[in-house]
Amino acid sequence: MPIYSYKCNQCEHKFDVQASIEEKEKGSVKFSCPECKSVDTKHVFSLSAIFSKDKNEKGGCCGGGCGCR
Ligand SMILES: [Zn+2]
Repeated sequence: MPIYSYKCNQCEHKFDVQASIEEKEKGSVKFSCPECKSVDTKHVFSLSAIFSKDKNEKGGCCGGGCGCR
Protein backbone atom coordinates (compact mmCIF):
# COMPACT_ATOMS: atom_id res chain seq x y z
CA MET A 1 0.00 0.00 0.00
CA PRO A 2 1.23 3.47 -0.82
CA ILE A 3 1.77 5.99 1.91
CA TYR A 4 0.26 9.45 1.63
CA SER A 5 1.23 12.57 3.49
CA TYR A 6 -1.60 14.50 5.03
CA LYS A 7 -1.76 17.76 6.87
CA CYS A 8 -4.32 18.78 9.42
CA ASN A 9 -6.08 22.05 8.67
CA GLN A 10 -6.87 22.56 12.32
CA CYS A 11 -3.51 22.18 14.04
CA GLU A 12 -1.11 22.05 11.06
CA HIS A 13 0.11 18.64 12.12
CA LYS A 14 1.60 16.53 9.35
CA PHE A 15 1.16 12.80 9.30
CA ASP A 16 1.46 9.85 6.97
CA VAL A 17 -1.30 7.41 6.25
CA GLN A 18 -1.43 4.13 4.42
CA ALA A 19 -4.35 3.61 2.09
CA SER A 20 -5.13 1.77 -1.07
CA ILE A 21 -5.31 3.80 -4.25
CA GLU A 22 -9.00 2.95 -4.52
CA GLU A 23 -9.69 4.32 -1.07
CA LYS A 24 -7.90 7.56 -1.76
CA GLU A 25 -9.28 8.16 -5.27
CA LYS A 26 -12.84 7.59 -4.20
CA GLY A 27 -12.38 9.92 -1.28
CA SER A 28 -14.41 7.53 0.77
CA VAL A 29 -11.90 7.43 3.57
CA LYS A 30 -11.42 10.34 5.92
CA PHE A 31 -8.05 10.46 7.55
CA SER A 32 -8.29 12.00 10.98
CA CYS A 33 -5.49 13.92 12.59
CA PRO A 34 -3.68 11.88 15.22
CA GLU A 35 -3.11 15.02 17.26
CA CYS A 36 -6.52 16.66 17.45
CA LYS A 37 -8.73 13.96 15.89
CA SER A 38 -10.05 16.39 13.30
CA VAL A 39 -11.03 15.01 9.92
CA ASP A 40 -10.38 18.42 8.37
CA THR A 41 -7.24 17.23 6.66
CA LYS A 42 -5.79 17.60 3.21
CA HIS A 43 -3.42 15.60 1.10
CA VAL A 44 0.01 17.07 0.61
CA PHE A 45 2.60 15.80 -1.80
CA SER A 46 5.58 14.02 -0.40
CA LEU A 47 9.10 14.75 -1.53
CA SER A 48 9.23 11.74 -3.81
CA ALA A 49 6.14 12.86 -5.71
CA ILE A 50 7.63 16.12 -6.90
CA PHE A 51 10.01 16.44 -9.80
CA SER A 52 13.28 18.14 -9.03
CA LYS A 53 12.67 21.02 -11.43
CA ASP A 54 9.41 21.84 -9.70
CA LYS A 55 11.18 21.68 -6.39
CA ASN A 56 13.72 24.23 -7.60
CA GLU A 57 11.07 26.56 -8.96
CA LYS A 58 8.82 26.53 -5.96
CA GLY A 59 11.26 25.81 -3.17
CA GLY A 60 10.50 23.08 -0.72
CA CYS A 61 8.87 19.79 -1.42
CA CYS A 62 5.41 21.15 -2.08
CA GLY A 63 5.69 24.83 -2.80
CA GLY A 64 5.49 25.70 0.86
CA GLY A 65 2.11 24.12 1.41
CA CYS A 66 3.31 21.47 3.76
CA GLY A 67 5.52 23.59 5.98
CA CYS A 68 8.61 21.55 5.21
CA ARG A 69 10.97 24.47 5.03
ZN1 LIG B 1 -4.84 18.26 13.98
